[in-house]
Amino acid sequence: MKVGFYGHVRQYHNLKKEIDAAILDVLESGQYVLGPHLKTFENELAKYFGVKYALGVNSGTDALWLPMMAMGIGPGDEVITTSNTFFATAEAAWIAGAKVVFVDSRRDTNNIDPSLIEAKITPRTKAIIPVHLYGQAAEMDKIWAIAKKHKLGVIEDNAQSIDSRGAGFKLMEQSDAMGCSFIIQKNLGCFGDGGAVLTNREDIYKQCEAQRNHGSYQRSHHSYGFNNRLDSIHAAVLSVKLKHITKWSDRRIEIANMFTKGLKGTGLKLPTTLPGYRHVFHLYVIETPKRDAMLKFLVDNGIDAKTHYPIAIHQQQGFPWGKDIDPVFKLPNTEANAAQCISLPMYPELQQDEIDYTIEKCIEFCKKNG
Ligand SMILES: *Cc1c(COP(=O)(O)O)cnc(C)c1O
Repeated sequence: MKVGFYGHVRQYHNLKKEIDAAILDVLESGQYVLGPHLKTFENELAKYFGVKYALGVNSGTDALWLPMMAMGIGPGDEVITTSNTFFATAEAAWIAGAKVVFVDSRRDTNNIDPSLIEAKITPRTKAIIPVHLYGQAAEMDKIWAIAKKHKLGVIEDNAQSIDSRGAGFKLMEQSDAMGCSFIIQKNLGCFGDGGAVLTNREDIYKQCEAQRNHGSYQRSHHSYGFNNRLDSIHAAVLSVKLKHITKWSDRRIEIANMFTKGLKGTGLKLPTTLPGYRHVFHLYVIETPKRDAMLKFLVDNGIDAKTHYPIAIHQQQGFPWGKDIDPVFKLPNTEANAAQCISLPMYPELQQDEIDYTIEKCIEFCKKNG
């Protein structure tokens, strides 16, 4: 049996009529850039998150550095984030010109450990960039309290966790801005690259809006800017898909529960959901010291498992951030996760026989290698 890692072609087939109609509607409108379809999606997204402003941009990476720049973060500044994330989190700060200071992750959730943040704050620190990793919100209540105490900005990296919630808080209640990614493999994906900036701050919104469009506040008037707009075709597709996000998240949680139940007692480290949190399982990540052997076994048996992220950012060649502060720079929990992680196939369109087969093969490996 083959179990693919991505379900987006199945998702397209399930929504084919609606999606095809939405794309044709854009084609007939003749307004492909900054047109009404983009405005509609932005309004829907702002409403969905319960925030004042949403701005479609052309990637999740842009959705992080645009608000950083709008908040005045640049050369000479430091931002605190996690190394246990996709490279783009740090890359965004680097594009803005800031220095990235890494804090280790919690060994259970793999999200940034708020108790380690304060020790890394210096007079140059401007912001904290928490990542909601794998589908679970970072501990925003604790992070926001630290940020307020030290007068720092907070930008949420929400590339992976649309529709998640914390215990007693929603995303965007405790930050200045948030960046979402809509690249196809994310929980809400368009047919290519896409992203959005969310914020309640008018100053951030206005500046990002101008900067994504050649720094144009007014037709023919330009200041410092870029070209980072979300295309209308993607916006129209995202409007269709946004309506399904809650149902899809519920199905991800249902599948995660089946994995967790099926894999109990195998000795594998299974995902931890903090009490009261809604973890939407962008990825279902198990951990084992025998990672390479298990990954090979799964792939050899037709299960397209992957790793997120086998090389943490501070371990990447050519980006020695942190090492100049501390020559033996180590992030033990992040490094343990990088060495042991395996992402099982996880998407709402997974079929029961695929779920059962995946569990069966994981158990088989653990029995043979116990
Ligand atoms: C995907 C991702 C990004 C970047 O999004 P793009 O749309 O690929 O630019 C940033 N941060 C995290 C945590 C991601 O998973």
